[in-house]
Amino acid sequence: MDKKSRNALIAGNWKMNMLASQVPAYWQGLESGAKLAEGVSSALCVPFPMIPAMKAALAGSQVKVGAQDVSAHDKGAYTGEVSAAMLADLGVDYCIIGHSERRAYHAESDELVNAKLKALLGAGITPIMCCGETLEQRDAGVTLSFVESQIKGGLAGVSAEEMKKVVIAYEPIWAIGTGRTATAEQAQEVCGYIRGVLACLYGAELAKGVQILYGGSMNGKNAAELLAQPDIDGGLIGGASLKPEFADIIGAANEG
Ligand code: PEP
Repeated sequence: MDKKSRNALIAGNWKMNMLASQVPAYWQGLESGAKLAEGVSSALCVPFPMIPAMKAALAGSQVKVGAQDVSAHDKGAYTGEVSAAMLADLGVDYCIIGHSERRAYHAESDELVNAKLKALLGAGITPIMCCGETLEQRDAGVTLSFVESQIKGGLAGVSAEEMKKVVIAYEPIWAIGTGRTATAEQAQEVCGYIRGVLACLYGAELAKGVQILYGGSMNGKNAAELLAQPDIDGGLIGGASLKPEFADIIGAANEG
């Protein structure tokens, strides 16, 4: 399986932006972009309270709804937490885990990310597991070894069958929300390396089928070059997913 046979995935990450009441107008603006390509999978990962409004707005379209986090626990006395079963019950298809903002501000470890990943798989939701280095780590030349440790930690105990349902997102922290995109070569180098790590863990054939996304200041202008790289199968989009420009990125994935 090569890049051509891997479906592209463009996932938006709204972070803590927008309101449920703004969802219908947002969706109208995106739809009128008319580039919501049939051949590209796409999703909007929104804050928990906006999931029902987004589900309603996207009904009948091919764009899926995603969440941005999940509890590692099934149920019980975990005030403020949201379980994978609750997300599945709302019709959520994707969920981001291990985003660098959660790792930094909520001290999420690879072990916790691993537990969340397993909770999602158990509920039939596709995890989008994030990894990526800081600028200090890049400058110190430890990018590849650090990302490898995140991948191995996050996937510990995940079987080959389960791995077929996991999406990986490489997001260099220095490129997130900064307007500073990794060059296509930098992004390809790490995404290709991740595929190699997956090949060691699960075999080359399985690794060739895994969707690996790039995230970090991707926008309507730079998407085409990034998405043309052999190991970049899509994007995780923060800021640009809040604007009609998101449709341009989906369009770029369709052309790539
Ligand atoms: C992100 O938060 O996942 C992200 C990639 O953000 P941005 O596109 O704004 O850099």
